[in-house]
Amino acid sequence: MRNLFICGFVCLLLNTYMQAEIYLSFLGCKDIDKQKVFSEVNKVYSLEIKELNSLKDIDFAHNPKRNQYLADRILSALENFLPNSNCVLVLVVDKDLYTEGFNYIFGLAGKNVSVVSIYRFKPCTVVDTQKEQNLLTERTIKTIIHEIGHCFGLSHCLNPKCVMYFSNWVGDTDKKGKDFCTKCKNKILKK
Ligand SMILES: [Zn+2]
Ligand SMILES: [Zn+2]
Repeated sequence: MRNLFICGFVCLLLNTYMQAEIYLSFLGCKDIDKQKVFSEVNKVYSLEIKELNSLKDIDFAHNPKRNQYLADRILSALENFLPNSNCVLVLVVDKDLYTEGFNYIFGLAGKNVSVVSIYRFKPCTVVDTQKEQNLLTERTIKTIIHEIGHCFGLSHCLNPKCVMYFSNWVGDTDKKGKDFCTKCKNKILKK
């Protein structure tokens, strides 16, 4: 009975997004296990996740005064690469991002586009052990799922275990899960 309910729930979630497509782009990010990223994002959204080549660099968004990249500018440029109007495109970069009012950000989302930075997710300068790669990949996966949640209309959640919880620092990202809490799942279903 319980299994039937869970299956029904997943099918309902799938129907909600059946028309949508999710695309991921990467700039640099050689330390990430990309296959794991694709399979974990797929698990949560029950959608095929495709790779797409988009921006070749983000130099145009560089602010020399801060030595950081303005995420808002990247989002505007990313819109030109959307394959259609009913999809979400996430660019993952290894440069440090900011937006006005914040010292740094892990990610930023617009309506259909999002950018995620792994810059502050690296546990050390050189990622050379499996454990370090796993941690970096986990943090990246949670942030991608979080930003796609924003693109699908979700706002921040007060449940620290929910993927939509706002990460003030990387410790918050480590504490939260990769999935939505029941409240956020219901919000998606109502859309
Ligand atoms: Zn957020
Ligand atoms: Zn939630």
